[in-house]
Amino acid sequence: MRIITLLSICLITLTSNAQKPSTTAKTSQKPKLVVGIVVDQMRWDYVNKFKPFFKSKNGFLHFVNEGASCDNTLIPYVPTVTACGHTCVYTGSVPALHGIAGNMWYDNVKQRQVYCVEDASVQTVGSTNNAAGQMSPVNVWTSTIGDELKLATNFKSKVIGVSLKDRGAIIPAGHAADAAYWYDTKSGNFISSTYYAPSLPSWLTKYNSEHHVDSLYKKGWNLSLANSVYENNCDGDENVYEATPFGKEAKHFPYDLSAFIGKDYSKVASTPHGNNLVIDIAKQALINEKLGADSITDLLAVSFSSPDYIGHSFGPNSWETLDGYVKLDEILADFFSFLDKQVGKDNYTVFLTADHAVANIPAFAKKHNLPGDNYDDGAIKNDIVACLNANNLNPKLVSFVGEYNIYFNHPLMDSLHISNESLTSIVTNYLEKKSQVLQVVESRKAAIAPLPQFARERIINGYNSQRGGDLVLVAKSGVVDGFPTGTSHGVLYNYDAHIPFLLVGNGIKHGAINTPTYMTDIAPTISTLLGIQMPSGSIGKPVLEVLK
Ligand SMILES: [Zn+2]
Repeated sequence: MRIITLLSICLITLTSNAQKPSTTAKTSQKPKLVVGIVVDQMRWDYVNKFKPFFKSKNGFLHFVNEGASCDNTLIPYVPTVTACGHTCVYTGSVPALHGIAGNMWYDNVKQRQVYCVEDASVQTVGSTNNAAGQMSPVNVWTSTIGDELKLATNFKSKVIGVSLKDRGAIIPAGHAADAAYWYDTKSGNFISSTYYAPSLPSWLTKYNSEHHVDSLYKKGWNLSLANSVYENNCDGDENVYEATPFGKEAKHFPYDLSAFIGKDYSKVASTPHGNNLVIDIAKQALINEKLGADSITDLLAVSFSSPDYIGHSFGPNSWETLDGYVKLDEILADFFSFLDKQVGKDNYTVFLTADHAVANIPAFAKKHNLPGDNYDDGAIKNDIVACLNANNLNPKLVSFVGEYNIYFNHPLMDSLHISNESLTSIVTNYLEKKSQVLQVVESRKAAIAPLPQFARERIINGYNSQRGGDLVLVAKSGVVDGFPTGTSHGVLYNYDAHIPFLLVGNGIKHGAINTPTYMTDIAPTISTLLGIQMPSGSIGKPVLEVLK
């Protein structure tokens, strides 16, 4: 009897909660849904540059015409790479505090390389490829927007992350997330890990069984606009300094992708079709998991990885990049009308940013008499080994070089009685003679490095005492780490560090802000909009000018 009474009370409560939204929807002060969009590798100037070519006024231009844009948003740390960027956007924090020191780092305690979202204690869900799913956010040390939203609502808010890249889905969703879904290039499935749930939801299993990638491959990659638009506004379609992700012979438009059907599910990532897959999953998650359906704010974190793959291969001035953004603009316009229909026009807020931007292809820069060169981590490691050999020192004294961080082998240094000071001076003197190197900075002494304050600050913010290198190589402007064809990102210069920060919807004013803002300001701004605590390690300030 008692149980029955309790049950009926519960049912009444549930029913009254379920009915609440329809009666409060119009008067709700807070958004029912926040959508965070990260466009991987998007430069801040792309919206202006590509504006004349967008087919819709309601895609990227929806932010410009109705929302707010913070046009001088910079990344205040190095390395400017995917994992650090997604972590900073959603934590408001920097590698020094949040722990994500790179996409990959060398753990000085474990004495091995660590991938940012690796977690051997969990298993893949949704594919037999176990390597792809042993992932979780355990390496992130501070809380995220989603975590704080959960805490503020007694965990009633729903938080879901979606991306092609594991780190692009997992980190934005945060520790307390309901789910994160990412793409397995072996099976062509969207997968997850047992960190979130023991199995995929049925809607996702169904989606995976429909072989969407094969139908996208069948379409190929054709240009959205007339050839003359690309000819007049981009570098040539075919250049020896571009990479060839679709095979050595596939050097220009149109790209026939039919050879990959049923065979190679990785190639879709380097086409605009990758964005269609991500938005499909985002929409399905929103409908099936009922995001934005009641007055308790939910968070959907979407990260488009394909612009990064396309940008690495073809560079920011390519036909591929312009076409990719024209197509992404159409996806955004369609997504906004979907949100209007599903959640209601005034019931949601969207912010859009990037995890980092990108350098010009060095050979393209050189062609135009601009500074540009390559110096990758492998070459740095080889140079250091040569230097140590020349000094009759054990070449194993440097254990790892990654993302311009140089890690010393401290156990070996101790056993050989080699001091930090002497190894630092030998390696630094050698590397600073290289034409690509501006300066080598001792991480723990970055505060007194003879560099402008903004550069010192970015190095200090990016240095994590347990996961960072002993030395940080500061390359000259235009020098790219890796990618003998194509280009990359990762350094402190503005071409990598200047990102878009756009907002639109519930609680957002209309207008452009030109005062300097930082990537670390994004999380406190969203926290202020929602009236929740800002994430634990957040060092930014809310951009009050954009909030109503
Ligand atoms: Zn990248």
